[in-house]
Amino acid sequence: MRELPQLPHPEPDHGTHARYTRGCRCKRCRTAKATYVREWRHRTGRNRPRAEYEHHLGERRIHGSYAMYNKAGCRCQICRAWNRGYTSGYRHGKATPGSSR
Ligand SMILES: [Zn+2]
Ligand SMILES: [Zn+2]
Repeated sequence: MRELPQLPHPEPDHGTHARYTRGCRCKRCRTAKATYVREWRHRTGRNRPRAEYEHHLGERRIHGSYAMYNKAGCRCQICRAWNRGYTSGYRHGKATPGSSR
């Protein structure tokens, strides 16, 4: 009778988060890990505004701006702080979104 190798935990394929957690740091596994984290953030952050999620994806926009707060609807700390200052009339002398030339 043939002896089957004892593999209680068969190795996952490369390019999977599971393989990464086994300690593999090859390029494919690291990419899988990055994707996994991104998806995880998406799942756990699904109640957040879309803009904030996109921000975490690396799609950088300027937080603390009219466009980010009002257009994109971001309510992150920076944008809320900006909104507080904006609505209370506290400005830094920068060009305000409402002013036209
Ligand atoms: Zn690997
Ligand atoms: Zn923001």
